[in-house]
Formats: sequence, structure tokens, C-alpha cells
Amino acid sequence: MFVKPLQKPRVLTLYELLHKRNALTQKEMRQYFQLKKGFEGEKRIYELINSLSGDYLALHDLLLSSNNQTFQVDFLLVIDGTLHLFEVKNYHGEFYFDSDRFFRVPQTEISNPVIQLIRTESLLRQLLQQYGFQNSIQSTVIFTNPEFTLFYAPRKKEFLLPTQLNRFFQNFTGQTPIGAAHKDLTETLQSLHISESPYQLLPSYDFKQIKKGIPCHQCHTLTTFVEKQSCICQKCDYKEPLEKAIIRNIQEHQLLFPDQKMTTTRIREWCKIVESNWRIRRVLNKCFAQKGKRKWAYYE
Ligand SMILES: [Zn+2]
Repeated sequence: MFVKPLQKPRVLTLYELLHKRNALTQKEMRQYFQLKKGFEGEKRIYELINSLSGDYLALHDLLLSSNNQTFQVDFLLVIDGTLHLFEVKNYHGEFYFDSDRFFRVPQTEISNPVIQLIRTESLLRQLLQQYGFQNSIQSTVIFTNPEFTLFYAPRKKEFLLPTQLNRFFQNFTGQTPIGAAHKDLTETLQSLHISESPYQLLPSYDFKQIKKGIPCHQCHTLTTFVEKQSCICQKCDYKEPLEKAIIRNIQEHQLLFPDQKMTTTRIREWCKIVESNWRIRRVLNKCFAQKGKRKWAYYE
């Protein structure tokens, strides 16, 4: 089992919200798609590991530090008595190796993932030794994207192509029970994880510049309108109880502006398509705690 379930990174959720509301520049858009692709690749590996039978322990997305150097562990799997380190790459397109260098077709050199893997493995081993663990590590670069092609692939065991993934994971049996030492090892690593600031990759945005309205729950476009007690999408006809739609939209506001006081006026402006203040106030009263009185009322 995984020590911690996979969660969508907060920064990706924020990008998604901003994307729906047309608040991303071209550069941020590229950043967004990169994050999205990266998460999809990670999810693919997470699911493959999660469907393994037998006894195993797995960690993912660890940020660790060893000898004053920070490094990222994408996945660590303990199974059949062995420690497997996986570096996940979601590259899209055509690539090739030329001796020890790695290129995107035609000729753009990019960092060789095998070299990165060797560095991560070495730092991880040093860290483990520091805590008294003497395990050997089996390391692999996993290319997850089905649209990834590798020419002149050297037959190295350090990497796995998308077409080899299923078979690779099917080879694990999980028949060796996980012992106390391995449990101790995974718990130690999880406790050493450094949490990153969730704001570091965030684009700058402000309330004024963001498109207001209630995005459709189904197709995410801002093409909804209010009819009686419902929020209806012009594009896909999805119909949602208005109160539910307002709550959903308030939650988006909270994610984007966690430090901002929520007043009826502000939320009405945010929802845009809801015309009456009382409707907004009713939802706020029902689902959030009121602070302050009358004119100065806000909700948490
Ligand atoms: Zn829709």
C-alpha cells in the first residue's frame, strides 16, 4: 500500500481554476500544461503500483535533502525484498541517446534522465545510510507518455518505455512480507519530506482581472445562467441546483483568495449571474460562519 494517497497538487488546482477564467498568460499556459501532463504521468504509475497484489509499501513525491543537496523522489517501491527507485518522465515526442547525451529530435540536447537518476540514487543511499539503513537500490527511469518514442534505445535496464510498463509491474509477486525494517525505512523517509511552499510556481493574479461567473460543473465553461432555482449551462445543458453551484463557486473563491474576507457583495460579484444579494447571503449564512454585523458582516 501507499503510505500516503496521491493528491492533485494544490498549485495544479489553482492553475485549473485560473485557466477556466481566462487568467493565464501564454507562458503560464505552458507551465499549466506541463504541470498537468506531469501529474497525469504520475497518476499512471500510481495506479499501476496501487493495483499490485501481495505485500508492498510505496512512497511518492518526496522532497528530501542529503549533504545540503535537495532531491526529488518520484516513487519508491519496496516489494519482494527490494527497494525500487522510479524517476518518472512524461516526455512527449521523439528522442534519442547519443553516447551519454540525450536529445529531442532533431538536435535539442536535454538533461540525460539517467544521470539525474544516478544522482538521486546516490543522495538517497547516503541519506539512508545516515539513518542506519544499508539497503541496495534498484533504479529505473520510467517514460510514461504513450506518445513518447525513443530511437536507438540502448538496451539498458535503467529505463522503461511506455509499452513495457504493464509487463514490468506484472512481474512483481509481493510474496515476501514487508518486515519491520522496511516499515521503519519508509516511515523515516516520509517523516523527512520537506513541504514546499504551495505558492512558488503560482502566476500572479488579482480579483479584478479574473473573469467572474459560475463555471459549469460538467464542461467548466463560464456559459451558465440562472433560471429559478437552477444554474443551467448554455453549452452542454447541464442543470445544477443553484445553491449547490453557488457553494461550489464560493469554494473556488476560497482556494484562489484564501486570505480575502468574503462579503455578500464580493461573492455576488464573483458569481456574477446571481442577481440578488439575499440569495447569496442565504447560502453564506447557511454554510459559513458570520463574523461582524450588518454592513461589516463577512463569512468564514
Ligand atoms: Zn456545461
